[in-house]
Amino acid sequence: MKKYDVIIVGAGPAGLHCADKLSGHGLEVLVLEKKNVFGEKVCAGGLTRKDLALLEVPENLFEKKVYVSLLVSSLFRNYSRFQMPVLYTVDRRKLGEWMAEKVRSRGTEIRTGSRVSRIEKDRIFTDKGEEIGYRYLVGADGVTSVVRRYLGLPAEKRIFTFQYRVPWKGEDRFEIHMDSRYFHAWYAWIFPHDGYLVIGTGGDARYVSPAKMKERFFTWAEKQGFDLTGATYESFPISYDYRGWDFDPVFLTGEAAGLASGLTGEGIYQALVSGEAAAAGILGDKEPLPAMDRVIRYNRIQNNFLRFMIKSGPFRNLIFNFILFLLKINSRLNKRVTKGFS
Ligand SMILES: Cc1cc2nc3c(=O)[nH]c(=O)nc-3n(C[C@H](O)[C@H](O)[C@H](O)COP(=O)(O)OP(=O)(O)OC[C@H]3O[C@@H](n4cnc5c(N)ncnc54)[C@H](O)[C@@H]3O)c2cc1C
Repeated sequence: MKKYDVIIVGAGPAGLHCADKLSGHGLEVLVLEKKNVFGEKVCAGGLTRKDLALLEVPENLFEKKVYVSLLVSSLFRNYSRFQMPVLYTVDRRKLGEWMAEKVRSRGTEIRTGSRVSRIEKDRIFTDKGEEIGYRYLVGADGVTSVVRRYLGLPAEKRIFTFQYRVPWKGEDRFEIHMDSRYFHAWYAWIFPHDGYLVIGTGGDARYVSPAKMKERFFTWAEKQGFDLTGATYESFPISYDYRGWDFDPVFLTGEAAGLASGLTGEGIYQALVSGEAAAAGILGDKEPLPAMDRVIRYNRIQNNFLRFMIKSGPFRNLIFNFILFLLKINSRLNKRVTKGFS
């Protein structure tokens, strides 16, 4: 049986970023990806400045750089223009290919079409019948993580999401709609891409049924003037059930660790930071990674706010309207909040 120093399960942003950070340290690292392609992930493809501070994405990968945002509640429309982009959109497949190429060019082995089906304390098994040994194991295998299951951690907090790719030739639109008549405690997004918009929503199915979410979304989309008949439909869950990441010699990263936001659905930043933290743990870095502590704290704060919004019931729209009112009358606060999210 061949034995590696590190096996990374999953070649999403968390796994590939972790592999990137491990390269050049003399470790034998193997990345296993169940799909034959990289980045084939349901996603709105939004990156923020925080992401770009960790990942130097080449200019040609950006589909849109967004300088203008529109926040909409049941009473207000808050239109803002910024000096710096507040959002960058990418094609996840192209991003995945670029990240994988970077990792491969540094000599790390990536095997595609290799699904990890079983794990034991010093080895993994793939559905191709391979048995491969490890010293360290990194779970970067997303919302259905087999590594998380091996650790015996439940995953209860999940957002059911769906989105449409709507062909679009008009002006770029980056919009966030917060209206509990349609989206309960969550929101709908409109992200601009090359020749199309991604519009979608989500919510925890324990509080709002997917059937209701879809019915309300269609009503809302129709009011916005969207024709969804020819649009591509996509759906995928998001995990926000964080229960730890460092189980040395096993590490959980990204959505395998439940680090995505239950409130906004953002998860790429958390995947990158935790990928970096796992690499630091394996390399024996004794310094704690402040960004990882912030990600964990941010996850807790957002979950608490989400719980508050869920409990607010009929007052939800009052809160959404109050937030938008504050942002509308206080441009400095508006800039600070936008900066916090971008
Ligand atoms: C509708 C929607 C919109 C979103 N929009 C945004 C957005 O705009 N911005 C943002 O920041 N986040 C967004 N997210 C969240 C973001 O996509 C994820 O949080 C992020 O991709 C998580 O990265 P990851 O590396 O942890 O997992 P993933 O990207 O899910 O990667 C996991 C990888 O592991 C592989 N894998 C799984 N199981 C196995 C196995 N057993 N063996 C081998 N390989 C395996 C998978 O094929 C996959 O390639 C969105 C999510 C959804 C659902």
